[in-house]
Amino acid sequence: MSTIKLHDKYFEPYIDQGKIDLIVKTLANQIAEDCKDETPIFIGILNGCFMFVSDLIRLYPYSCEVSFVKLASYQGTETTGIVNELVGINEDLTGRTIVILEDIIDTGGTLQKIYDIFKNKNVKKLKIATLFFKPDVFKKELPIDYIGLSIPDEFIVGYGLDYNDLGRNINSIYKITTHKMTNIVLFGPPGAGKGTQADLLKEKYNLVHISTGDVFRFNIKNKTELGLLAKSYMDHGNLVPDEVTINMLKAEVEKNTDANGFIFDGFPRTTSQAEALDAFLSEKGETINAMIALEVPEDTLVERLLERGKTSGRPDDQDESKIRNRFNEYNTKTSILKDFYAKQNKYFGANGVGSINDITNRISTIIDTL
Ligand code: AMP
Repeated sequence: MSTIKLHDKYFEPYIDQGKIDLIVKTLANQIAEDCKDETPIFIGILNGCFMFVSDLIRLYPYSCEVSFVKLASYQGTETTGIVNELVGINEDLTGRTIVILEDIIDTGGTLQKIYDIFKNKNVKKLKIATLFFKPDVFKKELPIDYIGLSIPDEFIVGYGLDYNDLGRNINSIYKITTHKMTNIVLFGPPGAGKGTQADLLKEKYNLVHISTGDVFRFNIKNKTELGLLAKSYMDHGNLVPDEVTINMLKAEVEKNTDANGFIFDGFPRTTSQAEALDAFLSEKGETINAMIALEVPEDTLVERLLERGKTSGRPDDQDESKIRNRFNEYNTKTSILKDFYAKQNKYFGANGVGSINDITNRISTIIDTL
């Protein structure tokens, strides 16, 4: 199970199906113990309660009736305080034992209204059962007879509960995520070993590696519109225009909404790309945690790239003037990003000369402190 996205928010697994089953079973038994000598009417408060009621009723061993009422009180993640009209009660409740079934009670505003309505119906007993209860925010004096599980004040979805109508069909409970991604910009001139290191680091830290160069090359190989557009720039070692690159990057991130984080390799390469990335991540409540720059002397890089060009088939690796042009792009446009991240105290240099393993260890030491 991993993080899910509903509308604009991310949720992580919280209470699994097995635990919910146990809680519901316990509630059914407690109510049964108290109500076994009569036929209670269970009244579910729609919409959130439908799975809970269905499961509880299946486990209820004695005679009972079931009905539903509807009251809407939520808009977004916070209680609005607006409580709408109650719809759905047609039975005569005089002299009956009523058990109100709620999926979750937080401030108690909704419940108070329902409670008052039922209190006026000459019932014999009025009991309240809730699957989840948030004691930290409950503001009312109402007696809650049966509580499945008390939870901290966290926004949850699943098992009937929604976030703006989505998430009701999930079989377990998820909570809004406070977990932050680990997002790293792996930086360094062409040939510094970013791709090699990213491959190792993504396994080690369970991150998604996005290499803009690889995405462009994939598109060129498959002759997509994006590929055709990027090819002429890339073949000469020039940067593909920002707008194209930024949109492509966003699309790659959106493909992996449940990631633990990203290794951005070859992106950002310009200040406007860095600004766009910051804005895009902050919309998601995320940020770049570090820029880790591999430092390698230029002559070593030229040797590495010409060597790679013999097997990679990359036109931009086979000609020293194109390689020098890429260094030039790096030095004039890209290396200013060092300052961009240094200003945010997010810049870390790592010696990129040595064995692959040693370099991975140097980078890991940085990531482990984030
Ligand atoms: P790389 O594989 O990272 O060396 O990238 C190869 C080429 O892809 C670059 O020389 C650019 O032409 C293009 N490219 C990759 N990433 C970007 C980017 N962030 N902005 C603009 N062009 C890029």
